[in-house]
Amino acid sequence: MTNSVIVDIEAFFKITYGLYIVSSKSSEKLNGFISNSVVQITAEPARFAICCHKDNFTSSQIMESKVFSISVLHKDAKANLIGLFGYKSGRDINKFESINYITGKTGAPIVIDDTIAWFECKLTQTYDVGTHLLFTGEVAGNGIIDINKEPLTYSYYREVKKGFAPKNAPTFVDVSKLEQKVSSQKKSSRYKCGVCGYIYDPAKGDKKGEISAGTEFKDIHEDWVCPVCGTRKTDFSEME
Ligand code: FE
Repeated sequence: MTNSVIVDIEAFFKITYGLYIVSSKSSEKLNGFISNSVVQITAEPARFAICCHKDNFTSSQIMESKVFSISVLHKDAKANLIGLFGYKSGRDINKFESINYITGKTGAPIVIDDTIAWFECKLTQTYDVGTHLLFTGEVAGNGIIDINKEPLTYSYYREVKKGFAPKNAPTFVDVSKLEQKVSSQKKSSRYKCGVCGYIYDPAKGDKKGEISAGTEFKDIHEDWVCPVCGTRKTDFSEME
């Protein structure tokens, strides 16, 4: 975000979002990505708008197949699922190889792991909005997977799970800018995940990975993985 009219980046964090897996397909592959830009825009007929970076593999698939699905993630969604769909490209790997999904009547794949509800849509319009494409789609089918769990929100992901938006997300912010605002009084080195941008802070430890506060990064066992994206300890680098 380099626009000079942006005076306080924190204001952007006051906008609320959910987190979803948006999936589509092409002739050769199924694919999907983590999206926080899913909005229901009309009720009759029910239509959604989603936003996808032009560079994302899924963008080209939606253009080709004219269908997409939306899986609503729950609060306890696993780090490795978010890592797989949020921080890796479907051009390099087959994301659907190791997860559970169903196929809707549109033919769109629908991720059901860590999902509470889903929708499948037929593409109605595509808008070029600069770096991203805004797609609208009419709901052709939907379902509930788990009525009891709560949906995952972006603020929960950011504040509780300590995750950051990937580079192609509409809400991406440069973590290094935020870092200048975070306390700098600690002497212990913090380490940043090279995949998702999560920062391991020795003062806080990693509750999820059972690393107690005060543990230096070098003292964490080798099997520890990033609590956000599930990548290995060796993918972290020391911060200045
Ligand atoms: Fe990570």
